[in-house]
Amino acid sequence: MFDSEFDLIARYFSHLGASRSDVLLGVGDDCALLRPPPGMDLALSTDTLVAGQHFFADVDPEALGHKCLAVNLSDLAAMGARPAWASLALTLPEVDHAWLAGFAQGLGQLAEQAGIALVGGDTTRGALSIGIQVQGLLPAGQGLRRSGAQAGDLICVSGSLGEAALALRQLQQGLEPEPGMRQRLERPRPRLRLGQRLLGLAHACIDISDGLLADLGHICSASGLAAEIQLADLPCAPQLKTDGDWCLPLSGGDDYELCFTLAADQAERLPRLAAELGLPLSIIGRMRAGQGIDCRLADGSLYRPSQRGFDHFHDSS
Ligand SMILES: [Mg+2]
Repeated sequence: MFDSEFDLIARYFSHLGASRSDVLLGVGDDCALLRPPPGMDLALSTDTLVAGQHFFADVDPEALGHKCLAVNLSDLAAMGARPAWASLALTLPEVDHAWLAGFAQGLGQLAEQAGIALVGGDTTRGALSIGIQVQGLLPAGQGLRRSGAQAGDLICVSGSLGEAALALRQLQQGLEPEPGMRQRLERPRPRLRLGQRLLGLAHACIDISDGLLADLGHICSASGLAAEIQLADLPCAPQLKTDGDWCLPLSGGDDYELCFTLAADQAERLPRLAAELGLPLSIIGRMRAGQGIDCRLADGSLYRPSQRGFDHFHDSS
């Protein structure tokens, strides 16, 4: 703990994010006091990002502040929840005021956009890591789960896949990614409006943090079903499709798009929803009885992912 722990919290984090009437007491006491509205369920999620593991230690602190909150908001989006409150556990190797100011700015800007209030914080000395807990609200009983997919459902994804992973690969190779790709890696945009619009429409939903196959795999196992996806229908940038290597769009992490399933007769609602949100929504396959995920090439043949990361996917051929 720093001697000045309370100063740090007060100085950088006490007024971050949206101001909300349901925050009775924010940063500065033993607990925050919050008043959830009646008839709403509370959605709660925690994510920790560790330097060297989840981000480069020398990354722009403002981008890091954005991303740490964005990955948490993405989990709220996946449940269809509206963001409400957040708390922050920050472990720092040293007090660096320029770093803290940048970090607080990135975090605060996104918090304000998302309507979330930072209501608590804690700082400790140690290797740089950032833990954030977010809480969101949704109408009672309506939260979007991974377990609700049904055989015959269409599998859909928002946005495009693999660009964050491409940017990461390029940075690791000492190359400078295109600005748009770098944005996808460093400043992901949680699909909050989409998640809320999927309430009562999608049967199952998850955010793609670990790659499409891994995360769709969670929907499959939680729902007791298999998935078949058409590679030609994956929304991804042309440079990710060039040499028949589907590794990045299938298994690249950090996209923070939503993957959801819905009844086939609801497909006609997607184009209007996409236009309204200004966000592409693509149908990439179907759920069916069985287990595992089959990836089909355009000629109908089965694509066999060769990466070790795919080993835990059942091959049903
Ligand atoms: Mg998630």
